[in-house]
Amino acid sequence: MIRKVLVANRGEIAMRVMRSCKEMGIATVAVYSNADRASLHVGYADEAVCIGDPAPADSYLNQSKIIGAAKETNADAIHPGYGFLSENAEFADMCSKNGITFIGPDSHSIRVMGDKISAREAMIAAGVPVVPGMTVSDGGEGLIEGCRAIGFPVILKATAGGGGKGMRLVEDEASLLEAFEEARSEARSSFGNDEVYVEKYIESPHHIEIQLLADKHGKVIHLLDRECSVQRRHQKIVEECPSPFISEEVRAAMGDIAVKAAKAVGYVGAGTVEFLVDAGMNFYFLEMNTRLQVEHPVTEEVMGVDLVKEQIKIASGLPMSYRQEEIKPRGHAIECRICAEDPDNNFIPTCGIIHSVRNPQGIGVRIDSFIYDGYEVPIYYDSMLSKLVVWATTRQYALERMRRVLYEYKITGIKTNIDYLRRIMDVREFVRGRYTTHFIQDNTEALMPAENARDTEDVALIAAYIDYIVNKNSPAIPDVDNRPISRWRMFAKQKGVLRI
Ligand code: ADP
Repeated sequence: MIRKVLVANRGEIAMRVMRSCKEMGIATVAVYSNADRASLHVGYADEAVCIGDPAPADSYLNQSKIIGAAKETNADAIHPGYGFLSENAEFADMCSKNGITFIGPDSHSIRVMGDKISAREAMIAAGVPVVPGMTVSDGGEGLIEGCRAIGFPVILKATAGGGGKGMRLVEDEASLLEAFEEARSEARSSFGNDEVYVEKYIESPHHIEIQLLADKHGKVIHLLDRECSVQRRHQKIVEECPSPFISEEVRAAMGDIAVKAAKAVGYVGAGTVEFLVDAGMNFYFLEMNTRLQVEHPVTEEVMGVDLVKEQIKIASGLPMSYRQEEIKPRGHAIECRICAEDPDNNFIPTCGIIHSVRNPQGIGVRIDSFIYDGYEVPIYYDSMLSKLVVWATTRQYALERMRRVLYEYKITGIKTNIDYLRRIMDVREFVRGRYTTHFIQDNTEALMPAENARDTEDVALIAAYIDYIVNKNSPAIPDVDNRPISRWRMFAKQKGVLRI
């Protein structure tokens, strides 16, 4: 059994992993960059090692420094969290060469699934439905013909891409070649690999994923699904479990297929198979993440499973704790990613000193966080500050609870997206559970800050009133807040549009 775990990460995920270690009586080692000296995970761990300068390449991505820290502290395992080295096959190999257990799958699974083309090929061979597409190496005739066969619009993707980067939507043939060259040069500069491939662009899809666990004894189970369609820049910000969209039959079919996908590559550990699901509930393999996902807590809340503990047990060679029949969902969970960013200014990341944090409390709330009063948000890393998760017996109650805890959550000193998340909770599509990956772009107006929304509504009301008095038409928008005509008139007068 693993006795000491080095967590090769920072922020909330470092805290998350160490919390499970503590409950299991496993010692912990933190690594940190110079920018993270005052970070919570450094104080929480039993030991901590500084591994270099703030830039990720000098610290959290510096493989030999991290292995060195593990050896120096006699850690017998490394948990990579998500991001950084979590899907780096070379690092997984380096751990095993140094006699350290990598808490994750073997490098073979990481390699196959890390490359979007080899992952597609492995899935096609295993009979898993994939998004129709083709691989391309140059922008010649083959590309044009291939795209015609797939049918426009198509999406160009960097083979080595991730984190929502390196994707380009191509609406028609006329813009194909230029977009292809741009995608290639972007892929080269972002990922050091200019390989690009083409996929059919699925109109208004849902992003729904299946959580998996597989142990070294050949057992693979799924822990149902998560709906992750609320995305900005192809990155998730709100997730829920289970998906409010798919039927029970489709849910079961997706679970079975995901297990098949994992078995096809001999997968071991926790992993997630991501699917795009179209309006007809047809689902297509998108990719497999060979690590813990940011949004794993919603699954934990609904299934009553600690995924980190299972990861550690599996890495120790123990059988996992559950059989498929024992996985019974209970209630509903929603997660909001609290980020240091300005949603009303193109989601630009913000940084600075947090003056005060007031965490929500009470029934059904979980906060995976690492911030505190006086904490300085560094500019070098991801903008996520915490994950706010609620659980309740039904989706409706979970939604009401999320509104309440977002109301209670106060972070001062820096701009965050809390207010924006509050607005999401009131948008009709979200409330009804009928939203796709286009949710944010389709609801820009409803998601505007209150002041601007007020302006838009004001203009609409005045226009409707003028239309009424000039044309004696029934108002264009008769039902806004059920306002009677007399109130609109008064309102238009107040605004100086009407003098009578
Ligand atoms: P990454 O690896 O960068 O996260 P993914 O391939 O997982 O990229 O896709 C991220 C998101 O981009 C999806 O959740 C979806 O919103 C959108 N997307 C990706 N591929 C397609 C597609 N073929 N059609 C429509 N949307 C897509």
